[in-house]
Amino acid sequence: MKIKRGDTVVVVSGNDRGQRGTVQRVIPNTHQVVVGGINIIKKHQKPVQTGGRSKTQPGIIEFEAPIDVAKVRLVCPSCSELTRVGYAFDEDGAKVRICKQCDAVIR
Ligand SMILES: [Zn+2]
Repeated sequence: MKIKRGDTVVVVSGNDRGQRGTVQRVIPNTHQVVVGGINIIKKHQKPVQTGGRSKTQPGIIEFEAPIDVAKVRLVCPSCSELTRVGYAFDEDGAKVRICKQCDAVIR
């Protein structure tokens, strides 16, 4: 996955297009990411009955649903441009991500 937790991304398609957020979770299996404040889903929470006592409060819960990683673009922390990620090797031989706009290493 080219996107990692903690990255700042901008949504480039869908209802949240143009919005910016921080990646909170990466789901490699489905190529999805959860981005803070993006793709908010409202869900009606029903009370769960256990032995006659209500365990959870009824109401509306909001949470960020995962979105396809193809719908977001990384914002480079160095040049602040929307960018694509390339790979390079640092002086220790470790694979690092680089910004294709400014060639800065993205940690
Ligand atoms: Zn850059």
